Amino acid sequence: MTPPALLLPVVDRIRHDAQRRRLTVATTTRLTPNMLRLRLEGPALAGFRSASPGDHVKLFVPDGAGGTVMRDYTPRRHDPVAGWLDIDFALHDAGPATLWALSAAPGDTVEIGGPRGSMVIGGPIRSWVLVGDETALPSIARRIEEMAAGMPVTSIVAVPGAADRQVIATSADHHATWVHRTDPTDATGLLAALQRVDLKPQTFVWIAAEADVARRLRDAVLARGLPPEWLRAAGYWLAGEADATVKDL
Ligand SMILES: Cc1cc2nc3c(=O)[nH]c(=O)nc-3n(C[C@H](O)[C@H](O)[C@H](O)COP(=O)(O)OP(=O)(O)OC[C@H]3O[C@@H](n4cnc5c(N)ncnc54)[C@H](O)[C@@H]3O)c2cc1C
Repeated sequence: MTPPALLLPVVDRIRHDAQRRRLTVATTTRLTPNMLRLRLEGPALAGFRSASPGDHVKLFVPDGAGGTVMRDYTPRRHDPVAGWLDIDFALHDAGPATLWALSAAPGDTVEIGGPRGSMVIGGPIRSWVLVGDETALPSIARRIEEMAAGMPVTSIVAVPGAADRQVIATSADHHATWVHRTDPTDATGLLAALQRVDLKPQTFVWIAAEADVARRLRDAVLARGLPPEWLRAAGYWLAGEADATVKDL
């Protein structure tokens, strides 16, 4: 039998055609006080493919000065038969994507691009630990929903308050920890919750949050001896910088 130290997760990188699609807003739903779901639909969704919960699409939104800017969002759920795609927006004070989502109404149109590629993580994984803030929650929730029945998974998600928690329907063996915080650049609560999680051999840890928070979480995991191959960490946004991400910390 292969000793656990020699076992590595398998990461498959799949390329897709980076097609641009104009879609129509079908519905807008306030899931929680700080999370808004837009359901997008339209014939242009034909052929859309998102192979991993870590995927992102580029959303083209007005910049408020007559131009267009792009922002990254997770394909939260896609139904190729019914022909819709859900995107969940974590609401914050500023930013063209957030402002566009807040003002969107059924019948409005928007362009998306991608995903250009998918990173599918598999192999001899025996359990998962998923850590992040509300911008990572769409990816975390999707991953848990799509997980094999009985797979042990711990999620640690920082949200503004108890009303921002979400129910995640899954047949995986899911243990959810919610951290309530006022400052999304404060890693203290997430670090404390992560410290309490047992990192057994063959546990894959996935982290996404504000870049400095994600970096501190990653460092805390590595300091506990998890081999780096068993970890992915990303900065989904950078405090004080518009349109800024660090896809691989
Ligand atoms: C792979 C990937 C997937 C992502 N998926 C999602 C997703 O599904 N849902 C989602 O909501 N976000 C997601 N994000 C994060 C999202 O792209 C950023 O939050 C983005 O900056 C929002 O754009 P904006 O136009 O609203 O703000 P920007 O114009 O980019 O930023 C304006 C200001 O707001 C700050 N800011 C940005 N985001 C936040 C925040 N969440 N809280 C507080 N301040 C913030 C910036 O530091 C800046 O000062 C994802 C990012 C990546 C890299």
